[in-house]
Amino acid sequence: MTDIPGSPNAGPLILVVEDEPQMQRFLRVTLRVNNYRLLEATTGAEALVCAAARRPDVVLLDLGLPDQDGMQVVQKLRSWFTGPILVVSARHQESDKIQALDAGADDYLTKPFGTGELLARVRVALRNHNRLSAAADQGVFATGELRVDHDRHEVTVRGEAVKLTPLEYRLLHTLIRHAGKVVTGRQLLREVWGEAHVDEAHYLRVYMSALRRKLELDPARPQLLLTEQNVGYRLHVD
Ligand code: CA
Repeated sequence: MTDIPGSPNAGPLILVVEDEPQMQRFLRVTLRVNNYRLLEATTGAEALVCAAARRPDVVLLDLGLPDQDGMQVVQKLRSWFTGPILVVSARHQESDKIQALDAGADDYLTKPFGTGELLARVRVALRNHNRLSAAADQGVFATGELRVDHDRHEVTVRGEAVKLTPLEYRLLHTLIRHAGKVVTGRQLLREVWGEAHVDEAHYLRVYMSALRRKLELDPARPQLLLTEQNVGYRLHVD
């Protein structure tokens, strides 16, 4: 584990798990310049020890590690780590992205990516995480024109109360718990309908369009409940 000291007032602590020296250097330079504090690990085993010992704010994890599949590291981390996990991968297959998200990753970056994209993803992940922590404390989630009071099960859009069925509410609530992240179709089906229904993609289509009719200004062009083509859905947060 390499501890890269930042300035005394440096920002969030990022654990970077990457075994390729060139990529490591790029991440180190980019993140340090932008005032993040850094911890570095080069294997999955080291990453897990490091995360447990130092409790980073964000984990940036390469999927292709020398000692174990990065996907396993995501699963193991997710059993206790609640902060954002961003997966970095050279693989282009959609199935890897879906697998990583299913395992609990918040977002993915496909190599090669630029400085701007990296920093934007880290910022968004941190912002979503902070917003969700605040929402959990206050029992109220708000983004744009949507406001959801979890304690009272009240949903308002543009100031008007909206009546949702219990399943619609559960679907919305699940998207809110993952606000800003892509959630795969299977993950939504598992969390809302249960393990036995993970293949019933049509449930999701039916309920998603019902939710859009109730929450979106123009359900045909959703601004809030976004489709991530071939992957799943994302609740847009601003
Ligand atoms: Ca690698």
